[in-house]
Amino acid sequence: MSGKISFFKSVEDYVDKAASYTDIPKGLIEQIKACNLVLQIRFPVRVGNDYEVIEAYRVQHSHHRLPTKGGIRYAETVDQDEVMALAALMSYKCALVDVPFGGAKGGIRINPAKYTVEQLQNITRRYTTELIKKNFIGPGIDVPAPDYGTGPREMAWILDTYQAFRHGEIDSIGCVTGKPVTQNGIRGRAEATGRGVYYGIRECMSHEEDMVKIGLTKGMAGKTMVVQGLGNVGSNTALISQKEGDAKIIGIAEREGSIHDPNGIDVEQLLAFRKSTGSIIGFPGSKHIGDASAALELECDILVPAALENQITLDNADRIKAKLIAEAANGPITADADEILVKKGIMILPDFYINAGGVTVSYFEWLKNLSHHRFGRLENRFQHNAYNAIVNKVEEMTGKKVSEREREFLTRGGTEVDLVNSGLEDTMITAYQQIRETFKQHPDIKDVRTAAFVCSLKKIASDYVSMGIFP
Ligand code: GLU
Repeated sequence: MSGKISFFKSVEDYVDKAASYTDIPKGLIEQIKACNLVLQIRFPVRVGNDYEVIEAYRVQHSHHRLPTKGGIRYAETVDQDEVMALAALMSYKCALVDVPFGGAKGGIRINPAKYTVEQLQNITRRYTTELIKKNFIGPGIDVPAPDYGTGPREMAWILDTYQAFRHGEIDSIGCVTGKPVTQNGIRGRAEATGRGVYYGIRECMSHEEDMVKIGLTKGMAGKTMVVQGLGNVGSNTALISQKEGDAKIIGIAEREGSIHDPNGIDVEQLLAFRKSTGSIIGFPGSKHIGDASAALELECDILVPAALENQITLDNADRIKAKLIAEAANGPITADADEILVKKGIMILPDFYINAGGVTVSYFEWLKNLSHHRFGRLENRFQHNAYNAIVNKVEEMTGKKVSEREREFLTRGGTEVDLVNSGLEDTMITAYQQIRETFKQHPDIKDVRTAAFVCSLKKIASDYVSMGIFP
């Protein structure tokens, strides 16, 4: 931690700034900011003929609502400060989008690319065992999910380990989310964070008076977009923004470097190109413009940093030319860089709002697991029959026939993925409207981040007050 700016401290600073716009008592703000439980773990894992000591964490930031919720990341950057900061962001994120959980986060300090699948499975199962031993996991206690470097495979290992220890516990499948669909996961979870980023940007850009202030016209169609990181979040954000929002993706950055094509990059083709060549460099029509941070400095309407934290810092903030930044990653902008960007008139959609789609659909998965049935299963056929009857009646009354395609569209009952996406869309829109409302109530607030923190703080504070813990 020494020598580097504390990520947790910068989250605390943001909270303090937002708190000054509220009348929440100081003691309550201190309680909201504090990390309630920090578990630091060391365990050995066999690598070749030797053993390696693995460093891991799980932090439960806030217990104002239970269970606590948040992903587990596998990265070499993991340390206690990072996990504490990310756990805190989860509390503010859940509150903002009305997901009734406290915030948590886990991390294992490894580069997963350096281990075999078998070793990764050993590490994941051992980590889960440590969580079980300390009562740090369970459907009503603390529910992990994927984050940077983890995915459905790791979540399936966690579930299997949990169930081996808690055999017969009826709600055990709700101990972790982001599971494969075949292992009690939910359709739509894999792309949920990227889809949520798209819904959030689209909603933000639908307000003409706000767009005019940053020199943009209303709407996402035709706007230029640059994305840093083609992991789960970045690739889905780029794909969905291009396919459903008609955004023009002109720049992409990945580990191996940045590419630029002012005529637009076909994201689906680029992903296939990277899969076969191992790199985005050399993609037909594009120009290699530098390292992984070069694309951040491109002139564009929307910039989406979707990799790791600390990507826009004092070193490059001055050279950022985007008008709107959507923080798809957690903490991609340092606090001092944020100040510069806000002064330059750049609008920033903060991480704990714009990437909340993942935890929102995790909440839906948890609800599905606890109710032990798939959304849409009971009502799908009923809705289909009812809509068919209406279409028949309309045909009879008007004497006109609808085409087979129209009938198919009009009489569809909601499937699981339809319901998940509509719940996600509604969540992202509603949260943005609440942030705008806060702006209206506090005309002195200048940036979306502060307004969003005010929203979250008020909700968490009101939970504590209604619990009778604070007056
Ligand atoms: N890791 C994701 C996040 O940072 C998802 C957390 C979850 O689904 O619980 O929001």
